[in-house]
Amino acid sequence: MPQTNRRPSDFVDGSRLWDRHMALARFGAREDGGVDRPALSGVEADARAQIVAWGRELGLRPFTDAVANLFLRYEGRDPSLAPILVGSHIDSQPTGGKFDGVFGVVAALEAVQAIITQGERPLRSIEVVAWTNEEGSRFAPGMTGSEAFTGTRSAKELFKIQDAKGVTIQEAAEAVLSRDIDIPHRALGFPVAAFLEAHIEQGPVLEKAGIPIGVVSGIQGTRRYRVRVTGEAAHAGTALRAERKDALMAAIRMISAIDRAALEPADTMLTVGLLNVSPNAPSVVPAEAFFSIDLRHPQDEIVDQVDSEIRRITEAEKGPCEVALTQIAHARSLTFATEIRAAITRAAQRIDVPSMDIYSAAGHDARQLHYWCPTGMIFIPCHEGISHSPEEWAEPEHITAGARVLVDTIWDLATGKPPL
Ligand SMILES: [Zn+2]
Repeated sequence: MPQTNRRPSDFVDGSRLWDRHMALARFGAREDGGVDRPALSGVEADARAQIVAWGRELGLRPFTDAVANLFLRYEGRDPSLAPILVGSHIDSQPTGGKFDGVFGVVAALEAVQAIITQGERPLRSIEVVAWTNEEGSRFAPGMTGSEAFTGTRSAKELFKIQDAKGVTIQEAAEAVLSRDIDIPHRALGFPVAAFLEAHIEQGPVLEKAGIPIGVVSGIQGTRRYRVRVTGEAAHAGTALRAERKDALMAAIRMISAIDRAALEPADTMLTVGLLNVSPNAPSVVPAEAFFSIDLRHPQDEIVDQVDSEIRRITEAEKGPCEVALTQIAHARSLTFATEIRAAITRAAQRIDVPSMDIYSAAGHDARQLHYWCPTGMIFIPCHEGISHSPEEWAEPEHITAGARVLVDTIWDLATGKPPL
């Protein structure tokens, strides 16, 4: 007979968890209820100090590194084993909400607190992490902390990135680190047994399905392009249509054919969200059309197939115009570790919280960690899928459910079941 049937999830305190979200939302609070907390800013350093204080109250040891990633360590029975790392980020977009990133960090802290309250120490250490500059809005691109940690890009290279005022990541990180009192530094990239990231979905799928937990199966592959079609300006009343080099008409033929090429399979995401026409005057044949293409699908083969169609179509439909297609981003799709996904599903089933498999449409720090250690993500619904907006909203009951599934998953992994 086990000593108790209780699980760490029984010790999750929903109101404490909610209060911590609201407390962090005060750092960089906007008048409209949103959050503006740039990476490595003064307000982010204040939020960071609050998290360190909460961790210290629980007896967790804080650590940092050269890029100001923040770790809070709860030591397991065997400190020599690689830890379970759990967290997300606390920087925001300029028009950010209260939940993006914060949920993953605060839920990780709540999970550790629930495990401490439960009273039994896990075999492996557990570390809460807040990665530096996930959003990439002050310093573009984002994922600085997780990329430096996993060595995807060197800290030296990342340090040179500047914000709009010419401040480098290195200068901003040093300013944040100078405020850390008694926080030891560790080298980037230590061994990790598993990484878990809880996050709001930032999409409408879970809310529509009425399911509180998404077991993230992977992150879909993405390709982004810019297309410039160059024609020739001419008089709308005198230039014969057969002799025109109408850049907009060529762009319309391209967009329409690309749209048709991406109709199947139905979950192919294709968006032309930007279209600029020049000179954009009612009586002038357009000399130039510039548009974007955003293509996403969970399977790389589909992304690659549409990619070759895009390349074929832009040439085939250009007519008398010139076309220049530039691919500005390419990220392969990835599938998270089966054992982590199974552990999350099991944890949800045990406490009777409905869950479903879901793909992540957006990128996260978990993308980088996936190449470092077994990694998984837990999604919770957010209202109408709205994110990066003051309107961003997650229901307290979903936040609590997410933290409960998270802590039981951590417990399984940190007690060695299944073996890692
Ligand atoms: Zn995020």
